[in-house]
Order: sequence, then C-alpha cells, then structure tokens
Amino acid sequence: MKRKLRMGMVGGGNDAFIGAVHRIAAFMDGKIELVCGAFSIDPQISKQSGEDLFVAPERVYLNYEEMIEKESLLPEGERMDFVTIVTPNFLHFAPAKLALEKGFDVVVEKPMTVSVEEAKELQETVERTGRTLCLTHTYSGYPMVKQAKAMVKEGHFGKIRKIVVEYPQGWLSRLTEREGNAGAAWRADPKRSGKSLVMGDIGTHAAHLAEYVSGLKIQELCADLTTFVEGRLLDDDGSVLLRFENGAKGVLMASQISAGEENAVRIRIYGEKGGLEWANEDPNNLIIKMLDQPRQLYRTGNAYAAPYTLSSFATHNTRVPAGHPEGLLESFANIYRNFAATVTAKREGKTPTAEQQDFPTVYDGVRGMAFIDTVVKNNEGTEKWTKFVL
Ligand code: NAD
Repeated sequence: MKRKLRMGMVGGGNDAFIGAVHRIAAFMDGKIELVCGAFSIDPQISKQSGEDLFVAPERVYLNYEEMIEKESLLPEGERMDFVTIVTPNFLHFAPAKLALEKGFDVVVEKPMTVSVEEAKELQETVERTGRTLCLTHTYSGYPMVKQAKAMVKEGHFGKIRKIVVEYPQGWLSRLTEREGNAGAAWRADPKRSGKSLVMGDIGTHAAHLAEYVSGLKIQELCADLTTFVEGRLLDDDGSVLLRFENGAKGVLMASQISAGEENAVRIRIYGEKGGLEWANEDPNNLIIKMLDQPRQLYRTGNAYAAPYTLSSFATHNTRVPAGHPEGLLESFANIYRNFAATVTAKREGKTPTAEQQDFPTVYDGVRGMAFIDTVVKNNEGTEKWTKFVL
C-alpha cells in the first residue's frame, strides 16, 4: 500500500481533551491522514472542528452512525481505513462494534467499554471480522518501558516476586465535576463512566502496565475503594493487592485525590536477582537495581555495547538520538505507528513483525474490564480474595 492510512474520528472536537493528542500521535510519522469525523456531540462544534482541521465539509458527519454508514459506501480509494474513538467511556462500544462490522479497523480509548459483556462482544467481533483493534494504553509505548519488559522476559532479574505499580493524580481532590469541568462531569457520572471512576480512568492503565512489563497475568485481588470527596457519586481512590500467575505478589494504587500529584505513574518490579524502576515523569530513564551491585541507569536512544545493548523493541520505538527527550506524545505515536504498520502489513498479505504487533489490543481491553469488575466486586463483597474471571 503506497499511501497514507485514512483516519476518521468519533469525538475529539474543539470541546475535547485527548482527541488532539491522538491527532499529533497519528500524524507524527507521516503514515496517517485525517479524512472525516463526527467530532462532537454538538453538531456546531463538530462542524467548526472539521473546518479547523481542514476536513472536507461533506465528510464532517452529524453522528458516528452516519459517518460509518456513508464512509462504507464510498469507493475503496476514498473511504476511511480506520476510526479513532475518543468519546466518554459509555460511547466506545457502539461505534467500535459498528465500525468493525462495516469493515473498518479501530483505535479506541481505554477503558475499552463499560462492561465485561460489551468487551467480550468486541473480542468476538474482532475475531470474526479479522479486523484490528488497538487500545491506547499510553504508557506501554515508551522505549524504556519496552526495555523493562524485554529485560524481565530474558530473565535478567530471575523469577519475579514483587510488582508495585502506582498512578496517583490530584485533579479530583475537590468536587471538580460540579465546577463546569465537562471531562470531570462525565467521568464522575456512573451512567457515562462505568462502575468505577478511579479504576476506569487510571487504574486500568496501571493494571495493564503491570501485566505488560512483567509478562504475568493477575489471578486474584483484594481491593479497597473509597470516595473521599463528599457529594461524588463514584470512588476517587483505590488500593489493590494483587496475586499474579507465577506466585508473584503485587500492589496497585490508583488515586485521583492525591493532592498535588500530576500523572505520577511509576512501576517497580523485583525478582530473585534484582529489580527495575520506571516513572512517567522521567520516562527516558530506566533504573536497574541488581543485588550486590551499584545502580545502573539505562537511557533511551543509546547504542550500548553488549551486554547492555537495548532491545529491538526499545530501539524500534525511539525516534531521536540519546539526550534529546522523548515523551508522552512519542509514546502515543509509537502505538499508532505499530498499529498502522500492522494494518498495512495485513492488507498486503504480509505478517507484521513482532515489534510492529506490539500495541495493546482487544484482549487487553477485555482484561481491563475484568479488572474493574473484579475490583468493584471484591470491594463490595466480604471475601478476602476474588478470582479474576474472564
Ligand atoms: P472529553 O470530555 O474531553 O471529550 C469527549 C469528546 O467526545 C468531546 O468532543 C465530545 O463532544 C465528544 N462526544 C461525546 N459524545 C459524542 C457522540 N455521541 N458523538 C461524537 N462525539 C461525541 O473527554 P477526554 O478526556 O478526551 O476522554 C475521552 C476518552 O479518552 C475517555 O474514554 C477517556 O478515558 C480517554 N482518555 C485516555 C487517556 C489516555 O492516556 N490514554 C487520557 C485522557 C482520556
């Protein structure tokens, strides 16, 4: 395929937050162009957004149903190839399902849906249609996160014993949802957000990061959810003890009332021989702590000599030479680039490389929804440990 992939958007208009980040990420490598959208719940905002983004007026649609239907009737040389869905959580499933059924690939925000049932239905649809679904768990796109995963996989730390993952934020320390903040309003509304505010909004990022880097699946958990801010309808803080499949134990903290925090995602993993530490606020560094050795600092973009050579997954996802900072936008762009390469390879009848296939998929989405369900079930019930059931 000697052309850019054509992208449509549901959400992401001038009234939105993350849609603009998606566009920066999608366009970064010059492999994707925006051709259409139903950019907002408000048709006027959608129209204006389309104009601002130089989208042809006839391809700015009133709603996602019209967009998917009309695009599917366009000639193959014109119609969109995939749709990016960046609406509030309750509006992920329906457009994703419709797009897959009509032959389009999908990029969708997390949490993938608002229930395990919907998530499993999307999994079934992906498997039946053979289409590709990419879930934007942002933090898994960083080169040093990929390096961490590769080092765990090659046994650098020995058998993994302990996984500690944190995602504290402070922006919901007050009743922000009643202060005219539209993003906070839908997040704190059980009808639009899902069963848990904190786990849906950021806990699934932490759970995905723990499973992605360690390569281990959560098997059971014990959770404590709290609503600290008076008047809020959903939880805003959670602590979860985790048991992983190889006997490793973990702790997950997701909190939106950690006053003063920004997006302080951090993961530490310890094996029999040593451990690692990575933090979103310093993403080009990976700290390695081996027993009886001085600490080591692995940095993005370096051509280290063996045995310190960075993994092909880290270098594949690095754009600039060492010392020039890469961040969230590049991490996001890595997810898009790998998705686009996989979609293109599949259309050309080729097998994408392992590095190209390295992005979160519908299976991660199903696990994310099962994680939220299990946390809520355990928090509400009386049993000490609740099995993670898919
Ligand atoms: P937002 O409230 O800022 O924007 C939502 C957008 O969806 C708006 O443009 C709104 O008009 C539009 N919309 C609502 N209903 C629509 C409909 N029926 N048709 C078309 N457009 C519609 O929300 P946000 O902060 O951008 O979050 C969107 C999604 O992205 C959420 O699921 C959130 O969890 C996720 N998110 C992920 C990350 C990440 O790091 N991956 C970060 C932020 C948000």
